[in-house]
Amino acid sequence: MKQLVQRLSQNRHLERSEYLRLLAGCDHELLKYINECARVVAMTYFGKAVYVRGLIELTNYCRNNCYYCGIRKANSNVARYRLEKEQVLECCRLGDSLRIRTFVLQGGEDSLLDDAFMQDLIKSIRRDYHHTAITLSLGERSKDSYQALYKAGANRYLLRHETANPQHYASLHPANMSPDNRKQCLRNLKQIGFQTGAGMMVGTPGQTLEHLVDDLLFLEEIKPHMIGLGPFIPQQDTPFAHEPSGSVEITLLLISILRLMFPKALIPATTALATLAKDGYERGILAGANVIMPNLLPIEYKTKYIIYDGKEAIHITPQEQYKDLKRRIESIRYYLSDSRGDYP
Ligand code: SAM
Repeated sequence: MKQLVQRLSQNRHLERSEYLRLLAGCDHELLKYINECARVVAMTYFGKAVYVRGLIELTNYCRNNCYYCGIRKANSNVARYRLEKEQVLECCRLGDSLRIRTFVLQGGEDSLLDDAFMQDLIKSIRRDYHHTAITLSLGERSKDSYQALYKAGANRYLLRHETANPQHYASLHPANMSPDNRKQCLRNLKQIGFQTGAGMMVGTPGQTLEHLVDDLLFLEEIKPHMIGLGPFIPQQDTPFAHEPSGSVEITLLLISILRLMFPKALIPATTALATLAKDGYERGILAGANVIMPNLLPIEYKTKYIIYDGKEAIHITPQEQYKDLKRRIESIRYYLSDSRGDYP
């Protein structure tokens, strides 16, 4: 099995059956080995830097009804909010004071965040923080809309494909949501010039190892600049409330596989990973991740953006979270970088 890992390191690619063998046959010892290999590759390109993205969850209104997500439209237990422009700028001010050089504007698919609102917001952030990257994560929009947001000054876009397998996609989403459209959105974003992020949840109900191989092969096709993956975690008000969480170990294995496939990619150690494992951020970085995404929202709003239960760090302030992350990252002898951390 170690030979498979070495071949993946050299060729940055394996055949379908080999990816499957790696996923199915990975034991504790091999996980340790591949994590080390991935760490060495990340070190070659990024040294000990961990890039920081300040997350601003703009709205928890959403028109969609993804079966896994706590802010799905049909969840009437959510206290809905939408930040005013001035509140977003306040989050940016706080992020800037922490020397954070990427703001990620994320939210549900909220029709009031139309192009005019977003263009105005992006231009204001761009004007005040011209050295800071602006990342958007607002779901599926038309190509014209993406183009308009890019022109306004946004640099990057995160849109996880969630699962590349169409049948599995259909078991996680209602019939009005199309896996082909989501994939096309990713192609459009890349074509426009965004640094583009795709990715999947690990351990969603019904997911097989074959589905995960489909994800790896889809990512090979898309060649994203950023890859976000975290374990699925159930949320009590969703159709998947009683489903088990995804595996921390498989998530760490996939982070390492993806680092070997895409040496220069920006890969976060996600909040979902840190929610399931108390040392999730540290283990993610030591498996080859190189990005961390502290939340810049005031507690009042963080506690309303509950996409899954038990979400990490929602009851502490952004300053407290940043300090805690800094301590944790330094404890494994990495450091929080104050650069933009663009795709090299
Ligand atoms: N609406 C935007 C979109 O569709 O990309 C961004 C917001 S969406 C809530 C961000 C991500 O949260 C999704 O891409 C999904 O992978 C993740 N997510 C949602 N529910 C989750 C759950 N129960 N467990 C883990 N991750 C979840």
